Amino acid sequence: MRSQLPKMNSFYSDEPPDEDHFDEKADYPRASKYQTLCSVCNCSASKFCARCHSQAYCSKEHQVVDWKNGHKLYCGKDMPEKEKQTASSKVCFPEFELLIESEEFSDSDKEDEKSEEAKLEEYRHYMESNQEAMSHYDSKSAAKDLEKMAGQESEDYKQFMKFKMRIQQEPDQVLRYDRGGSPLWVSVHNVPEPSDIPNCSCGKPRQFEFQILPQLLNHLGADTVDSSLDWGTLAVYTCSDSCDSELAYKPEFLWKQDFVEDQST
Ligand SMILES: [Zn+2]
Ligand SMILES: [Zn+2]
Ligand SMILES: [Zn+2]
Repeated sequence: MRSQLPKMNSFYSDEPPDEDHFDEKADYPRASKYQTLCSVCNCSASKFCARCHSQAYCSKEHQVVDWKNGHKLYCGKDMPEKEKQTASSKVCFPEFELLIESEEFSDSDKEDEKSEEAKLEEYRHYMESNQEAMSHYDSKSAAKDLEKMAGQESEDYKQFMKFKMRIQQEPDQVLRYDRGGSPLWVSVHNVPEPSDIPNCSCGKPRQFEFQILPQLLNHLGADTVDSSLDWGTLAVYTCSDSCDSELAYKPEFLWKQDFVEDQST
């Protein structure tokens, strides 16, 4: 979903804040000023704790989880906000600050290409020795199939190495922003054609804006085997016209590319 504010708006000044005299409480617009928020997830809330009527929740689920994880200890008691524990950390992903930096790539471009070639050569050797083992007990046609497959896979391997080399310069990066540019794919498989990206509902074409990297899964603690979340990269395409309608949240388009693509589909 895309939501954006014009530079002139009723929440923020169009001038950057004075960092030296910044009073977070006074100067920072808070959603709680305009909406009742869920104590657990900070989404808009319409339900309250039936006993104290002071704790708000978006849903029955979050009320239950908060009750079990702390609220039953201080429900109805007069306690400083700071000492109250909520179930947020149990339900929500941890929050971080995003630091924005420009990528400097061209300097080491050449060196990377060289090591990429070396890695590819390594891979060719591996495939060749594999092919020998295969043809030992199989027909010529099987060896030919493998050769064909090796050709495809080395293309994919090359793309993956390109991705890795580029990321390695800032291994902690979680998001790459390049509005109107193109994503850094992890694979040659499942790359969208321009016709795969639907136009915005306003009729204007969508363009690439940013991509989310798999490193984010590590930071969110969602990189465990039993986690249902996984991706190679998530490429987000948004309206090239940044159209504004009465909708506060406009649906945009996301393309998910995985690391391992099933060749049979
Ligand atoms: Zn909630
Ligand atoms: Zn309560
Ligand atoms: Zn639009």
